Amino acid sequence: MNVAISGQPKQADWQRFFSSQASQLGPDIVGLIQDDRELEMRSLNLIASASYCPLGLRQIEGTHLVNRAPIGMPGRRSVGNCEHLDSIELLAIERAKALFGAEFVNVQALSSTIANVAVFRAVLPADGARVLTFDELAGGHVSHGAMRHITGYNREVASFGVTPMGTLDLDQARDVARKLRPHVIIAGPSSYPREMDFAALRKIADEVGALLFTDIAHVAGLIATGLHANPVPYSDVSTTSTQKTLCGPRNGAFVFAQSRFGDAIDQAIFPGLQGPAGANLIAARAVQLEMVGSPAFADLMQSVVANAKALATGLEAGGCSIYTGGTDSHMVMAFTGEDWERPDLVAKLGEYGVLGNAMRAPDHAGQPRTAFRFGTIALTIRGFDAEDFSRLGRELAAVFVAGPTASIDRARVDLFRQLAASHPIPSFID
Ligand SMILES: *Cc1c(COP(=O)(O)O)cnc(C)c1O
Repeated sequence: MNVAISGQPKQADWQRFFSSQASQLGPDIVGLIQDDRELEMRSLNLIASASYCPLGLRQIEGTHLVNRAPIGMPGRRSVGNCEHLDSIELLAIERAKALFGAEFVNVQALSSTIANVAVFRAVLPADGARVLTFDELAGGHVSHGAMRHITGYNREVASFGVTPMGTLDLDQARDVARKLRPHVIIAGPSSYPREMDFAALRKIADEVGALLFTDIAHVAGLIATGLHANPVPYSDVSTTSTQKTLCGPRNGAFVFAQSRFGDAIDQAIFPGLQGPAGANLIAARAVQLEMVGSPAFADLMQSVVANAKALATGLEAGGCSIYTGGTDSHMVMAFTGEDWERPDLVAKLGEYGVLGNAMRAPDHAGQPRTAFRFGTIALTIRGFDAEDFSRLGRELAAVFVAGPTASIDRARVDLFRQLAASHPIPSFID
């Protein structure tokens, strides 16, 4: 009763939630977001998987489509009013097919990791599957059958690594494949800076009757622009995230496959593993793919790769040795020397305002060594050129060589601050 009488003023109260600006609705959180944004502006982000999502894609993710869950597939939805959402999703699918030469595409997975879990579920027997994977230390990804990941659970997993030269150890891959008789060979670079010889893995897969599953999460932008050979047309399945070299928003994936796997993959993603993807995410993917297909994006990717070479050259000139001796991609792995514990590396570089990943990689003898992984996507978007990167490489090598106990060089901190200040982040200027 009470509610009916005093309904109008109460309604006005809660209706404000739905029309307030973010700064009114959550001022404390918005304050922290602004602080983080300034921190990012001041920092040199050399995380290999980091990029800056274009402003327009952020705007599309923020449209009213955030409310729309087009459950099912285009033309076969279990809710109404999906005609425009169907058009959007079909455009995304068609663009992805054209760009990567795929027979089948799913654009709904909520991340590349989820896509990988779904693909394993779709193409492998439920029990006792055998998986040949690219060694995680050499540069493979945790979602490729690692024991601590669900993709490795209840499966027989064996791996292959790299030769002392840093190329894929195809002899080892073939030997292990002949013994294991895997159902699938999965490979893709996560912390491996060279172009992968996926075509050679296809031959091995054919010889032993295995499927080939290529994960191009890191290098999809290089592949879409022709800088790396495209394995999608001859892979049974491929996956990629939407960020990294594709420079889109996080939390998305494209799954490419031969048509015969299409239905199983669609169903493994939804309802097999996740709820429906928001239409806002799918719409952003459609626009992202158009951007990735443009000549200007190819220029960006060319600069990203040239800058990684310059960074590697600078690091070497400064006294670092480089995993695989160099790079063909956006990524460089520098051995730092064994004085460094990985948390110390992250902390020390943090004091210089530099971000990257402390990891391990095999040396010439296959022994795990401490290494720092860098990537050039984010700073290339900010306008850093090859000269800037080669200078950064020399400065960073000096930090590694000086060791974890050396005190902070204030002049170097200032230099990095100046470099950051003179290269604003384009998508932050909104
Ligand atoms: C980053 C990465 C993933 C995971 O991508 P998310 O979308 O963050 O889940 C999967 N595979 C490879 C090779 C990666 O590098």
